[in-house]
Order: sequence, then C-alpha cells, then structure tokens
Amino acid sequence: MTKSGLPVGDLPEHGAPSVDLALPRTVLAVGAHPDDIEFGCGATLAKWAARGSAVVHAVLTDGSKGTWDPGADLPALIEARKAECRAAASVIDGDRAHPVAERVHFFGYPDGELDTGPAARRALTAVIRDVAPDVVLGHDPWRRYRLHPDHRAAGFLTVDAIVAARDPHFFPDLGRPPHRPGALLLFEPDVPNHVETVTAYAQVKIAALLCHASQQGTTMGILASGDAGSGSTGTARRREIDDFAQRIHRQLASHGGLAGVDAGEAFHLIDAL
Ligand SMILES: [Zn+2]
Repeated sequence: MTKSGLPVGDLPEHGAPSVDLALPRTVLAVGAHPDDIEFGCGATLAKWAARGSAVVHAVLTDGSKGTWDPGADLPALIEARKAECRAAASVIDGDRAHPVAERVHFFGYPDGELDTGPAARRALTAVIRDVAPDVVLGHDPWRRYRLHPDHRAAGFLTVDAIVAARDPHFFPDLGRPPHRPGALLLFEPDVPNHVETVTAYAQVKIAALLCHASQQGTTMGILASGDAGSGSTGTARRREIDDFAQRIHRQLASHGGLAGVDAGEAFHLIDAL
C-alpha cells in the first residue's frame, strides 16, 4: 500500500496502521547519536537480523556532548562511544556472520552541530548507494516539539540522501550506481502509520541499549555505578536497570497497542520512494 511520498497522491491516512514489512534482505539504520538507533528501532533490527537480514548502522555524530561531566576527556568519550556502538550492533546481530563489509559506519560530525548541507548529504548518499538497503530507518524530521537539533537534522539528512541516492544526477562523481530503497521507516514518528511486531525481541533491545555504558546515567536513568553483582551499590544498580527495562517494555506495549499486538515499534512508513 502506498502511504505517501508521491507528488500526486491520497490525503494522509489516519486509519489502522499497517503491520510488519516483508523481510528485507538489507537494512540501513541512520541515527544522530550512538544510541539513537537502538532506542528507535533496536528490536525491529534484532528481529530482522535473527531472520537473516543484513543490518548496517550509520551513526552521524561523534556523541561528544553525551556527558554531564564538564571535565570529561572528550576524545576518550568519542572512542568509548564507538566501541559501545559496535558492541550494540553485535548484540542486535546476535553475532551472526555478517554479509556486509562494515557493520557500523561512523560519520564523526561534531555532536550538536549536524547540518543538512551538501557534504553530509553526499557522505550519506555514498553509504546508501554502497549498502543498497531495501529498507532505510531514521529519525522522523517532522516530529513536532523536538528539542535536539541533531535529531531534526539527521531526519532531514536521511530523507534528502534517499532522494539523492535514487536519482542519477545527484553526486555522479561518487562513481556508484543509483539506489532506490523500497521503504523508509521513520522512528519516534509524529504520525505513526506502521508497527513492526517485536515480540521476543525486547530483551535484545534492552541488552543493546545497555551496551551504551557511557549513556546509562544520561539517557537511561541508571545512575548507580559499579558492579551489579554485590553490595548496596549493586542492589541499587540492579533496581535501576530493572526500572529502565520496565520502561522499555511499557513503550513496546504502548507502540504495539496501536496495531493490537503485544509488543511493537511504531514508525511512519513511506513506501513510495
Ligand atoms: Zn540522540
């Protein structure tokens, strides 16, 4: 079913969301920061990976503002966040042999300063043409009242790079053939119109998110440090991890409820690209 995206088409639909795309062969998920992909679509990626899809991540910024510590060693933070991304991608993949050259593409733009200009669009276009995904996932740039500029910029960059990747007169000097994905799924959608069922993949999403150890305080409410195994700090930490896991379960139940399934991730689907 065509949802939107053509210059002449139907009015926006507000009916029941569609459920579950056909299994894609290759998917590309684009996130502004190192943990955005796991928050936005980690369970969906895990489901597809378990069924044989090749999953590729594109992380646009270096995550260098992802700390509340004014004295933080930022080059060390950038390297730690790359390692966390690779670990999370590996959890999502279930450590399968991965049929792509690179599992995570790091663009390295400074956190908080992502723009949608030609250089960034060209770089993402090159990855889309290289990876040739059937499905692209990214931030919804039209989500209202979003504060973080990188999330807006990442969304627009994703949409703009899809247009450039599919049309041969954009960036012909890349020397790569054009590629038109079959579907775009925008996460944190302003108007959800599609749900992916993720029953049995909540734990993988939570485990992938917990790989982002440097973000557990800032984005997951896990403030107690140290070994979860023993002592009062361990007890507090286990409780905070459990609270975080329950929030993810509630979110998946709420998204799934839009389509009458027990656990889901909701998106805005554009399938006329
Ligand atoms: Zn983010």
